[in-house]
Amino acid sequence: MNKKKKASPNNSRATKPNRSAKGAARTRKGAAGTDPKRVAAILAKLDEAYPEASCELRHDNAFQLLISTILSAQCTDVRVNQVAETLYKKYPTPEAFAHANPGELEQDIRPTGFFRNKTKSIMGASKAILEKFAGQVPRTMEEMLTLPGAARKTANVVLGTAYGIASGIVVDTHVIRISNRLDLTRNEDPKKIEQDLMQVIPKEKWILFSHQIIWHGRRVCHARKPKCVECNLEKLCYSKDKTI
Ligand code: SF4
Repeated sequence: MNKKKKASPNNSRATKPNRSAKGAARTRKGAAGTDPKRVAAILAKLDEAYPEASCELRHDNAFQLLISTILSAQCTDVRVNQVAETLYKKYPTPEAFAHANPGELEQDIRPTGFFRNKTKSIMGASKAILEKFAGQVPRTMEEMLTLPGAARKTANVVLGTAYGIASGIVVDTHVIRISNRLDLTRNEDPKKIEQDLMQVIPKEKWILFSHQIIWHGRRVCHARKPKCVECNLEKLCYSKDKTI
């Protein structure tokens, strides 16, 4: 178990601020780590480690990605991909999902968990796509948010990955944890975290940054025992959770 260190009053989330972070803390409210030079250094390190980070949900089109993203709530991408392999053969179109037998669909997606709610979201989103968007997954955040089961996270995944539209930053459990560890935010609420990140990450990086942080969380910066010894961001990181 990690040894807990006493938080400094100037930085409740970080205990070992470096020189530039201390300076930033004096000059701005919020996270001390958002000094532009430090953020640029973090982005460079992420590019170095994960130049080709991308969404790990397998999909052939925006609609499949939307359904897989709904399925991925509280479930691993590996499990979703296993279910998706047969799911999209059985239900190849929005029509097929919209007119599915709910009880049967529940059983088809059961391994992903929360299958009753997910069935409602999937069928509701499919119907809305047919009725309001001529069978196409919409291309704006505003329209995406009208789909049952689609909040900002889902919308950002689909718009960014399927369409290359930088509508925001995906804030999942990895992004919540790591953006706090890297002192890019001091919020816990996903909406506030996204706003904080959108202010400090250049827009052209939003899509890749989301994937990179998620990859980093899955491969190195684990929730319980981050592999700091293997982390190329280690020198820039002063999180209390560090294991070295
Ligand atoms: S040094 Fe450790 S805590 Fe910091 S980002 Fe790297 S793995 Fe995560």
